[in-house]
Amino acid sequence: MTAASDTDPAGTTAGGRAFAIGLRNRFRGITVREGMLVRGPVGWGEFSPFAEYGPREASRWWAACHEAAHRGWPEPLRDRVPVNVTVPAVGPERAAEIVAAGGCTTAKVKVAEKGQDWREDVARVEAVRAAIGPSGRVRVDANGAWDVDTAVRMTRELDRFDLEYVEQPSATLDELAAVRRRVDVPVAADESVRRAEDPLRVRAAGAADIVVLKVQPLGGVRAALRVAEACGLPVVVSSAVETSVGLAAGVALAAALPELPYACGLATMQMLTADVTAVPLLPEDGFLPVRPAVVDEEALKAVETDPADWRARAAAAEAAGADAGPAGTDAAGEGPAG
Ligand SMILES: [Mg+2]
Repeated sequence: MTAASDTDPAGTTAGGRAFAIGLRNRFRGITVREGMLVRGPVGWGEFSPFAEYGPREASRWWAACHEAAHRGWPEPLRDRVPVNVTVPAVGPERAAEIVAAGGCTTAKVKVAEKGQDWREDVARVEAVRAAIGPSGRVRVDANGAWDVDTAVRMTRELDRFDLEYVEQPSATLDELAAVRRRVDVPVAADESVRRAEDPLRVRAAGAADIVVLKVQPLGGVRAALRVAEACGLPVVVSSAVETSVGLAAGVALAAALPELPYACGLATMQMLTADVTAVPLLPEDGFLPVRPAVVDEEALKAVETDPADWRARAAAAEAAGADAGPAGTDAAGEGPAG
């Protein structure tokens, strides 16, 4: 990536516009999603690393923003990408409503929620399968919460409702590999994939059949495409719960992948209470369109905050990226749970 080589750091961060947008539900412990938007010669980019990430981790997020604003993305191979509806750890009636309202033919169901009984997972997945119908796809995401035996037992239990795959059933690569050896359901790695080299480790460990990739943590669309190619496993593109500007980069990745066998986790605009564009990237009939996200001045003003800290953070990230070499090859950092 060329985060720093062709532009002056002050020049690229000086015009950045900061935003703070409420989340409808708490996510990763936060209730407000914050970041910065940058307008470059080819479009808008989003820089929204989570607060705990230092400059080295944030450097890849900055590289992704820079790519969007200054370089653009590879040619799309499709004009829309399928997305899944996400069902949080709610009761079965609410789960069915969410699926019915989404218009998607793939649902991702949160399971293994802290404080809940396993029977609640069964009831939720059962309700989702009933709501989406026999031809729909149902995947579950445990966010690494199960130990191996529980993961095996629960995956088998929930596969009564015909699972597409189980996402991050356990935390570590060794655990994922152990689960994968004992269940027939495909295993997807999400939290285990945070750095460019992680998908190769996942594959080498036999830990997953599918990898979940996000654009910002990997340093941009091109960097993510390289990771996907090197890894060789099917990819599910997901968001870092961004505005439509950040989501558009995820859509660009999904649109550029040679194969896209699974619906993407990019229908996350609904998690935010506002957007920075006039036409937010929301799914229509289960798809997101492949199109640039254009910031709307009125929409941005409504959520705009003092950019000083974000500009400083971006400048630090850019400097760290320049020190670390090409983004996506250094060893620091991790991305969000999706
Ligand atoms: Mg996940």
